[in-house]
Amino acid sequence: MTEMVLDLVEIKKKAQIDWNSNWKLKEALISYGDGKHLDKIAHKIAKEVADKIDCTKCANCCRVMSPQITSTEVETILEVYEGDENTFFKTLKPMGDDFEFRSRPCQFLKDGLCSVYSHRPYDCQSYPHLHQPNFIEGMDGFIENYGVCPIVFNTLNRLRDEIKSISRK
Ligand code: SF4
Ligand code: SF4
Repeated sequence: MTEMVLDLVEIKKKAQIDWNSNWKLKEALISYGDGKHLDKIAHKIAKEVADKIDCTKCANCCRVMSPQITSTEVETILEVYEGDENTFFKTLKPMGDDFEFRSRPCQFLKDGLCSVYSHRPYDCQSYPHLHQPNFIEGMDGFIENYGVCPIVFNTLNRLRDEIKSISRK
């Protein structure tokens, strides 16, 4: 079994090297057949990996990504926002009907932790989205996040091993 990699610098570097290989993995997963069977395997691997990683010691997603925020979620954050409301609105960039934060790292990341944790957007709660149904539909996003999130990185590598071992049988 591939060893877990947690070092963010190594993960970012490997993401460039593995870029083509990850798209090949997507092709292999598409031809793998029944999506429900793939979901079962991928979700099991993703959970095993996530259980071994402490997000409070990472927070890389909060540093380099910006979540999608609905207008309802903007209101939810405002319930605990300590600053001026207009100042907060200036930190938001409209994205269609939703918003994202203009700057990164996220303004709510304090000492490596989310300071609005109980009021954080769904996109933050769900990230890195590996548990969502129809794994293959999320693959483009997972490949984009492979160099950012250790959970995604290690899950895709274990999945790659799994596919190889199945095709050898
Ligand atoms: S709101 Fe919280 S969980 Fe979401 S990006 Fe900001 S710090 Fe991270
Ligand atoms: S979800 Fe991924 S990138 Fe975000 S803190 Fe957890 S391991 Fe790090």
